Amino acid sequence: MRIAAEFDALYGARPEGVWAAPGRVNLIGEYTDFNEGFVLPLALPHTAVAAVSRRDDGVLRLHSRDVEGGVVEARVDALAPGSVSGWAAYPAGVVWALRDAGHPVGGADVHLASTVPTGAGLSSSAALEVVTALALDELYGLGLGRPELAVLAQRAENAFVGVPCGVMDQMASACATEGHALFLDTRDLTYRQVPFDLAADGLRLLVVDTRVKHALGDGAYAERRAGCEAGARALGVRTLRDVSITQLDDALRKLQGEAESVRRCVRHVVTDNDRVARVIALLDGGDPRAVGALLVEGHTSLRDDLRVSCPELDLVVEAAVEAGALGARMTGGGFGGSAVVLVESERADAVSAAVTGAFAGAGYGVPGVFAAVPAAGARRVG
Ligand code: ADP
Ligand code: MG
Repeated sequence: MRIAAEFDALYGARPEGVWAAPGRVNLIGEYTDFNEGFVLPLALPHTAVAAVSRRDDGVLRLHSRDVEGGVVEARVDALAPGSVSGWAAYPAGVVWALRDAGHPVGGADVHLASTVPTGAGLSSSAALEVVTALALDELYGLGLGRPELAVLAQRAENAFVGVPCGVMDQMASACATEGHALFLDTRDLTYRQVPFDLAADGLRLLVVDTRVKHALGDGAYAERRAGCEAGARALGVRTLRDVSITQLDDALRKLQGEAESVRRCVRHVVTDNDRVARVIALLDGGDPRAVGALLVEGHTSLRDDLRVSCPELDLVVEAAVEAGALGARMTGGGFGGSAVVLVESERADAVSAAVTGAFAGAGYGVPGVFAAVPAAGARRVG
């Protein structure tokens, strides 16, 4: 195994083990996870891989094949938010989060490599965190469950790296299974595997990476989050999860005195939670083609109500549908990143060409396109 040979060359011995954790793409349920709502992600075949050995001297050494700069070294008992910067904060944050939760994790040598595209909204960061968490869980015999590992990985990203993400990415990476999407209730982290065997149904789910990231996105996430919280407060509920689709009209009437942006946040979250339920009903009922229309509905809501799309993402959806896709929507935080396109297998190439052609016509760069195959969650591979 190449990763083990590289580990040996770096650290002078074979690793005790090798683990892998995937990136993810979210089929539907966007900006719902910080409202204790529903999401439906699937794991990608793209993974972060970690070769890891324990050390008994309390030293943590971190290295990535994919970044310059060599080995980053720290003492595990000196880890604290702010003590490690750059890419190494993700794995170091996991060690910190495990120890901070009272788990007996000592030093380690870690060598990482990843095929998850970074910054494309496919959660290369969660893959890095989850693979580190699983490796340390097994090596140090912690016996933690997958949801616990995911929550600790999320804590690493929130409190150590300083990114206020929800728990969907880490749960998808930790808990997904092949041929399924993961229905996750972010309130209590219960989950269910929903059959999503695209190939058997003659379908393909294309991921289109726009390769743009608009700076606007930086403040927008916090702003939408605040809008959702304001909406919940005004409605007297704990989170927007507590507003069902049948209560939406009433809720919007109650919010007439609130800012328009708050009403829009509420409408998006309530309708997207409902769309997750409807997509699951279609998949359980063996009607995956009908999911396409709900993807487009979800995109419209993200574009017009939440206002987190951008011209490049809108163009993917428009060009794909125009070329005969069953449906498409932006996925992830928006303002760039990726979109998903559901398409009949035999139309996949034509749709992909149409999107690429539309980008060229608009003067945008060449988008990255690949087919997402619902893959397995984190696991030991060596
Ligand atoms: P996303 O999770 O959507 O890909 P993020 O900005 O959350 O984007 O995370 C990307 C960051 O994760 C990178 O900037 C880098 O710091 C880290 N990262 C991802 N993959 C690797 C890797 N293979 N090696 C080192 N760092 C990585
Ligand atoms: Mg990330």
